[in-house]
Amino acid sequence: MVNLDTLLKDISRITPKYAKTLEKMKLVTVRDFLLYFPFRYDDFSQTVLLSESHLDKAVTVEGKITKAKSFRARSRRMTITEIIMEDENNTLLKAVWFNQPYILESLSQGSKIRLSGKLSLDDGTYSMSNPAWEKSSRDATNTGRLVPVYPETAGITSKWIRWQMKTLLPLARQMEDVLPEDIRKKYHLPDIYAALAQIHFPDSNNSLLLSQKRMAFQEMFLVQLKALQVKRDWGKKNSPDIKFDETLVGNFVKSLPFKLTDAQRKASFEILKDLERSHPMNRLLNGDVGAGKTVVGAIAALQTISAGYQTAIMAPTEVLAKQHFESFCELFGNYDFSVALLTNSYKVIRHPELGQKPSEGSASNYAKFTDNSKKLSKHIADSSFRKSGTQNDGRKELLKRISDGDINLIIGTHALIQKDVKFKNLALVVIDEQHRFGVAQRSALQSETMNIDDGDKKTVPNLLTMTATPIPRTLSIAYFGSLDLSILDEMPKNRKPIITKAIAPSGQNKAYEFVRSELKKGRQAFVIFPLVIESEKMTEVKAATEEHKRLSEKIFPEFKLGLMHGKLKPKEKEETMRDFKNGKYNILVSTSVVEVGIDVPNATVMIIENAERFGLSQLHQFRGRVGRGEHQSYCFLFTGGKKGSGTFFRQADQTGKKVPDPLTNRGIPKRLKILEETNNGFRIAEEDLKLRGPGQFFGTLQSGLPDITMENLSNVKLIKFAREEAAAILQADPQLKKHPLLKDALRKFSEKIHLE
Ligand code: ADP
Ligand code: MG
Repeated sequence: MVNLDTLLKDISRITPKYAKTLEKMKLVTVRDFLLYFPFRYDDFSQTVLLSESHLDKAVTVEGKITKAKSFRARSRRMTITEIIMEDENNTLLKAVWFNQPYILESLSQGSKIRLSGKLSLDDGTYSMSNPAWEKSSRDATNTGRLVPVYPETAGITSKWIRWQMKTLLPLARQMEDVLPEDIRKKYHLPDIYAALAQIHFPDSNNSLLLSQKRMAFQEMFLVQLKALQVKRDWGKKNSPDIKFDETLVGNFVKSLPFKLTDAQRKASFEILKDLERSHPMNRLLNGDVGAGKTVVGAIAALQTISAGYQTAIMAPTEVLAKQHFESFCELFGNYDFSVALLTNSYKVIRHPELGQKPSEGSASNYAKFTDNSKKLSKHIADSSFRKSGTQNDGRKELLKRISDGDINLIIGTHALIQKDVKFKNLALVVIDEQHRFGVAQRSALQSETMNIDDGDKKTVPNLLTMTATPIPRTLSIAYFGSLDLSILDEMPKNRKPIITKAIAPSGQNKAYEFVRSELKKGRQAFVIFPLVIESEKMTEVKAATEEHKRLSEKIFPEFKLGLMHGKLKPKEKEETMRDFKNGKYNILVSTSVVEVGIDVPNATVMIIENAERFGLSQLHQFRGRVGRGEHQSYCFLFTGGKKGSGTFFRQADQTGKKVPDPLTNRGIPKRLKILEETNNGFRIAEEDLKLRGPGQFFGTLQSGLPDITMENLSNVKLIKFAREEAAAILQADPQLKKHPLLKDALRKFSEKIHLE
C-alpha cells in the first residue's frame, strides 16, 4: 500500500532515473512530493471558440484533429510537427511543435484534443506555437485550467510532475493537519488536504490564494512558535549582571562632539537595562544608515568593559571591521581599554600606552585625538600582514592576550568566533550585520555565540544585533521574532536630508553639469552601477569599466576617476576606497560593492544608474553613502539608461505574472517619487514592502523560508495573527504536551531552518 511515507523510488510509475533526480531535489517520500509547490501558474482557464477577439491572449481551444504530420525543416535541422484542428464552428487552427515528433503518436487524425497557449494569426489562419495539449477525454491537467508550473530541474518537466501529482494527491487526505482546528476555523482557512489540492490544481484564483495563505500562515505560525520558544529558553539562561553606572555613561555622552538623539538615548537605555538583568540580552537595534548605531553599541561596550568584562564586535567584512576598530579607538581614546582587531588579514592591537591620550574631553581635544587616530591608522597599515609564518605567531600572541583578559574589546569579522578564540570573560557580543548575514548564518552566529568559550561556563554573553537599514516592524517580527527590538527612527539633527531627483535620459547632461559644479567646489562624487544579481557580476564589471572609461574621456576629462568593482581583491578595494577618501579621485565609479558603512564626508553627490531596476530600500541604502558631512548632498536616480535596461517589473502577482510599474509623465517609475519625497528609511521600507514584497530586504540570501511564506510576509495581519496564536498556545501549553502534532512539526521544522 502506498502511503505518505512510501519512498518515491518504490513507486512503480517512477523509474529509478526519475527517482534519483527527485532525490537530488530533496524529494524522497510521497509526503515530500505533495509538499513540492508550483512557483507560478499559467492561466489557461478560459476555454473559447476561435475568434479574433482572443488574439494574443493565453486561451484554451478544443476540437477535432483533421490533419497531422511531422517533417524535417529544410533550412534548419529540426523536426516540425504540425496539426490542423477544427473547432465546433468549423474554424481551423494550425498548431506546431518543434523537435517533438513523438507527439504524433498521441495526436492522430480524428481524435479530439484541447490546446492551451497564445493565440496568433498566421497568414490568415489561427495558430499556436508549442501549445500545451491534452486529449479531450482526459481530466484537465495541463490545459483548460490554472495550470501549475513547478520549478524545473534538468530531466523533470512540469508536465511529468503534474501527471504524478494527480495520482498521488488523494494520499494527501492521510496527512495530519498541524494547524489546530480551532485556529483554522477562526481564520476561515481550508484544511491541509483542501489546501494542497487547490495549490496543485486550483479551481479558481480565489481558492488558490486562500490555500497559499493557509500554508503561509502555517509556516509563520511555526516560525513564531519557534521564535517564542527560543526567546523563552534564552531568557532562562544566566548572564553576568552589569550595573548601570550613570556617571560613567553620562561622562562618556558628555565627551561626545554631538548630542545624542532621543532615539539613541532610548535605545541605549533599553540596552543598559537589559545588561543589568541576570538573563542575557538578545536585542535587535534597527536603524537607518547614519542613524548612529555605532555610538549606541559603544555605550553598551563601555559599560560592559568598565564592569570588568570583555566585549566582542563582529562586522560582516574586513573593511567594516577595520573602520569599527578605528572608530572605537577614537571613541575610547579617554579610556584605558585595549582594543584589538582580528580578521583573516589583520591582527592589530591598540594599547592605551600607544600614542598620547588627549586630556579630559572638550570638542577641541576630540579633534586633537582625531589626529592621533591617523597615527593609529598608520600603525594598522604597518602591522597588517597577509597570511604567512609570522602572521600565525601574531595571531597566537593575540589569542593569548584575549584569553588572558589583557584585551578588553575585540573587533573583527566572524574570524572572531572561530574555535581557537577563547575569552577570559566575554559578556557582550555586538553583531553589526549590515544585511550580509542571512537567516541561516545569523542563527549559526547566535548559537555559536551561545557556545563561545566566554571564560565562564555558567553564563551566556549578552547579544546585540544591529541592522544596516530599517526593516518594517512586521518583518522584524517575522524574521527576528526571538529578539527584543530597539528602533532608531530619528536622524541626528545636523543631517541635511539628501536632495534626490529621478532623472530621465534627456536630463542626464544637466545632472553631469551639476556634478561638475560640485566637483569644482572641491566635493567628490559617486557613480554607482549597482549589481543586480550575482550571475551578472561579469557584465556589471564590464559595464562599470566601460562607464568609467566613458565618463573619464567624454564627460569629466578634467577630473580623476577611480574604479571599484567586485573583481578587485579586498586589498585593492580598500586601497581604492582609501584613495577616494583621501581625495586622490574626484569621482568613484563603482558597482554595488562600495561598503554601506563607509564614511566619506566630502562626497556630496551620487548618481545611481539603472535605478529603476532596484528596490526603494536598496536605493535608499546606496544614497546613504553621501550626506555624511556638513555639506548639502544630492542623489540622482538615472533611469532608462543607454544600455536598454528593460522595463522594470514589480513583484509578481499571485499567479506569477509580473506587473509593470506605472510611469510618471516624466517616464520615470512612480515609486521612485517616494525617494524624492522622503529620507525616512522606515517609511521607504514600508512602501517597498508593499510594492515589492519582502525579498529585497534580505538581498539574494536564502531566507530558508518557502516562497509562499516569503510572498505573504508583506501581509501584516498574517504575521500578527500567527504571532498571537503562537503566544496563546505556548501560554496554555508551554511544552506543547497537548499538541503532539505541533510539537513534532516544530521539531522537523527546526531541523529544516534554524531561527534560534
Ligand atoms: P550607522 O547607524 O549607519 O552605523 P554611524 O554610527 O556610523 O551610523 O554614525 C554615522 C555618523 O554620525 C558618525 O560619524 C557618527 O559619529 C555620527 N553621529 C552619531 N550620532 C550622532 C548624533 N547624535 N549627532 C550627530 N552625529 C552623530
Ligand atoms: Mg554602522
